[in-house]
Amino acid sequence: KIYYDSDADLELLKDKTIVFLGFGNQGAAQAQNLRDSGIPNEKIIVTNREDAYAEDAKSKGFNVEHNFSKAAQVADIIFLLIPDQVQPRVFNEQVAPSLKDNAVVVVASGYNVFFELLQFKPSQDVVMVAPRMIGSSVRSLYVKGKGFPCFVSVEQDGTGSGMSIALALSRVIGATKAGAIASSAREEVAMDLFAEQALWPNIIVLFREAFSVLKEAGCSDEALCYEMWMSKEPAEIFERAAEDGFIDQLKYHSTVSQYGQLNGALQLDGSAIRARFKDILYNQVLNGKFCREFSSIEQDLEKDGNANPLNNLYEEHSKSELAQAEKRYQYLFTNGSEHV
Ligand code: NDP
Repeated sequence: KIYYDSDADLELLKDKTIVFLGFGNQGAAQAQNLRDSGIPNEKIIVTNREDAYAEDAKSKGFNVEHNFSKAAQVADIIFLLIPDQVQPRVFNEQVAPSLKDNAVVVVASGYNVFFELLQFKPSQDVVMVAPRMIGSSVRSLYVKGKGFPCFVSVEQDGTGSGMSIALALSRVIGATKAGAIASSAREEVAMDLFAEQALWPNIIVLFREAFSVLKEAGCSDEALCYEMWMSKEPAEIFERAAEDGFIDQLKYHSTVSQYGQLNGALQLDGSAIRARFKDILYNQVLNGKFCREFSSIEQDLEKDGNANPLNNLYEEHSKSELAQAEKRYQYLFTNGSEHV
């Protein structure tokens, strides 16, 4: 089911105090959209540590409260718009103990709700309003008078009006203009984490190995970088796929290309990859294995150098032939030969 503006009743938000925890990508965009949709500024509080994000909120005219607990005390509705990995720590320790019994908690991702990492009272509403769009576009599309796609769901209906509130909030942040799709935290997590842990890693490996095979066959680094992705042809293909269809976009390619791709895809046996994909989905994503592993390293992500596991992963990937070549030629293609 897809919900539009006419499905949302803004009266439900009248006189509600709405708190934004975080003023980053999503927080800044959603808070501004909500205010521009007619929610009075005095009913909106941005709560953030005392730093550049807080300054940004102040410069945009928002009331800023640095003490999360104080902000939580007055919140009828609270948007959790800080990074997923820090939400359990911050919410459970500094927000949840002060929240009203009938507060509405809004998440923009299903992660912490699906894996039950946040502590709610049964009387509270927990709704997901998850834009399928980066924060800057959430704002720019709203300013242009357009909407953006969004997933909406009720994960806990403490007050009995969770869905109506979720739709009203979807409307004021600008989502129901394009259509808010009924979903669930489970669905959002399954699709998001599957894409991140199964689909895109395979694409990384396909490109990496294709690069090495063609290099071994005598193709030059610069030709390969350009041919494979720096020309932005893959980006154009995906753009056409979104507009014309995943397969039908092939009609823009040469006949040799069309035949090669259509026939080649039918010759490939997908059963091994399907089995591997299922294994990742059920035995790594949905059963919480990845979540437990990620929680165990979460605090290390704020460290510097080799103590930060992300830095080590980047370093490992930088050793591939593709990455080494890219380092040399990325600059060439953007700045010209004299800089190489
Ligand atoms: P950001 O990384 O932009 O969040 C930054 C904000 O979080 C800042 O206000 C920052 O303030 C605060 N913050 C960071 N760490 C802490 C901490 N330890 N304690 C308190 N505050 C902290 O987050 P996003 O906007 O990217 O993501 C927010 C939510 O939106 C997530 O649930 C995400 O999954 C979801 N989402 C994000 C999308 C995106 O495109 N980015 C798309 C759709 C959903 P400080 O200066 O204090 O660090």
